[in-house]
Amino acid sequence: MDKSINPSLVLNADFRPLSYYPLSLCSWQDAIKSVFLDRVSVIESYEEEVHSPSTTFKLPSVIALKDYVKCLRKPAFTRFNVFLRDNFCCQYCNQKFSANDLTFDHITPKYLNGKTTWTNVVSACTLCNLSKGRRLLRYTDMILIKSPVKPTSMQLLNNGKNFPPNYLHKSWRDYLYWDTELEN
Ligand SMILES: [Zn+2]
Repeated sequence: MDKSINPSLVLNADFRPLSYYPLSLCSWQDAIKSVFLDRVSVIESYEEEVHSPSTTFKLPSVIALKDYVKCLRKPAFTRFNVFLRDNFCCQYCNQKFSANDLTFDHITPKYLNGKTTWTNVVSACTLCNLSKGRRLLRYTDMILIKSPVKPTSMQLLNNGKNFPPNYLHKSWRDYLYWDTELEN
């Protein structure tokens, strides 16, 4: 069976996804391995089954860790996390882009000793990045939509909720949206 089909949604011990974007998923093989190692509980299952010589079980569609994993206090300073902090929006034109179409912009350019840090790097589309070029903002007619900050893990997790997964199994719904307002 294909590894990428029937993935399991991985929840923390408090039943929230470990991460929303990218969504915390694992292959059904890893899910079953974790069940046997007693690291996770199976919360929901697919209809599909796998068979071993002695037993049959349904593929887990939602699993929850038995031990709570604390969010790392400091999110890693990575390309992905900068884009996630900025909600995949160019911080100059405020348009949404895919990760492939976004670039890093150093607000204070590197050649002027601008550092590669949370507070000096923003997501920028190629066009804005080119038009700013190697200039300081005050020599351009561009403005930043907001000053960049060092995000907390919680902020990144919350931003991730703005990106619904491409594929959504019906058994995942309750765990992805349980903290949004319930409809009558
Ligand atoms: Zn732009």
